[in-house]
Amino acid sequence: MKVLRLTPQTRLDLFPGYLWDGESPALTSDMVVCLRQGRIDRIIPQASYRPDGSQQLYLPQLTLLPGLVDAHVHLALDGLDFKTSVDRWQDPEAMSRCIKKQLEAFLEHGVLAIRDGGDASGWNLWARDRAPLEGPVPRIVATGRALHKKGFYGSFLGPPLTPPYDWEGTVKGLAAAGSDQIKVIVSGLVTFRHWGEVGPVQFDVNELRPLVEAAHERGLKVMAHANSDGAVRQAVLAGVDSVEHGYFVSDETLELMAERGTYWAPTVAAVANRLKVGRGREYNPRERDIIKGTVELQLKKIAHAHERGVRLIIGTDAGAPGVYHGRSYEDELSFFLAAGLPPLAVLRAATSVGAGALGLASELGSIAPGKLPYLIAVAGNPLEDPSALQRLEAVILLERA
Ligand SMILES: [Zn+2]
Repeated sequence: MKVLRLTPQTRLDLFPGYLWDGESPALTSDMVVCLRQGRIDRIIPQASYRPDGSQQLYLPQLTLLPGLVDAHVHLALDGLDFKTSVDRWQDPEAMSRCIKKQLEAFLEHGVLAIRDGGDASGWNLWARDRAPLEGPVPRIVATGRALHKKGFYGSFLGPPLTPPYDWEGTVKGLAAAGSDQIKVIVSGLVTFRHWGEVGPVQFDVNELRPLVEAAHERGLKVMAHANSDGAVRQAVLAGVDSVEHGYFVSDETLELMAERGTYWAPTVAAVANRLKVGRGREYNPRERDIIKGTVELQLKKIAHAHERGVRLIIGTDAGAPGVYHGRSYEDELSFFLAAGLPPLAVLRAATSVGAGALGLASELGSIAPGKLPYLIAVAGNPLEDPSALQRLEAVILLERA
């Protein structure tokens, strides 16, 4: 795989065999994409192209499309072992190596933008701003530390809150620390001892609404971890921008999400991958059945969400047990396809819609004049055969500023 790192000085004209812009229902062919000053300057038919001394790159037979977006990852966790991951937080050098490897894995799978759902030590902010990384790095949207209620699920993601809540002060502090978005934990985790068990709701709509208002006043989106229909509904009614996980959501709440334009990252891999090699042994047959049923229900809900026009996005929860950075993106795409979504809808979720959830719609996720060049080239037509995404031939991205 070829990796092309661009600087604002790069003048490059791309000649892909085919182009998919991140939104259109079909590919176009014989176009030239001209990159100038770190932006996509123009897209013109090859017939009207006049060389101006800029570098040219031919990508014959390949389809050029926007880089993929993983809307939910945890760079501080390795997906292999939770305890080892958290112990590693004490060792900056080991963290540096681990995060570097994970970021490389995203690039190897064509994932050029990620949103980190937080960790209590703020490694996601470090990865975005200060990690001594040489080489290309995907664009990172960091939430910093996630908010949860004291005594409830989420202590490894951020500091505990106790009522009465000072949402203004909390948001101000997170913004000052560099959070691009606010992550809040509204429920617990899906467990597999009993069908539908997800832990209690931590914050209700009246508690969440002032948080959302304080975040929006500062131009920050709110990313809400919520399982159970009750938790999802409270979060959506409070006006959060994206629902993460959303297991056991009802069709009525999906309708509300469609109406309000709430993004949904169903993170199927986060549950399904627990049954993958080795890991499944932790569960007895009854629990394995619960996991399978939970995944089946989630696939059905993805189909229902698509029918209702919910803004679905691809978020893997990479870093969770069995959910490997980069590699699990293929898993999540295959779950969306297994849910019956047409490849076009899955690819939009993976690019333009995902970029919207990251707050980067004006910068990446689609190929249009003015956008930043975060692009991939694959062999084949991904709209007809999504496995083309696994035949990644080139990654094009901006050098980290
Ligand atoms: Zn997560």
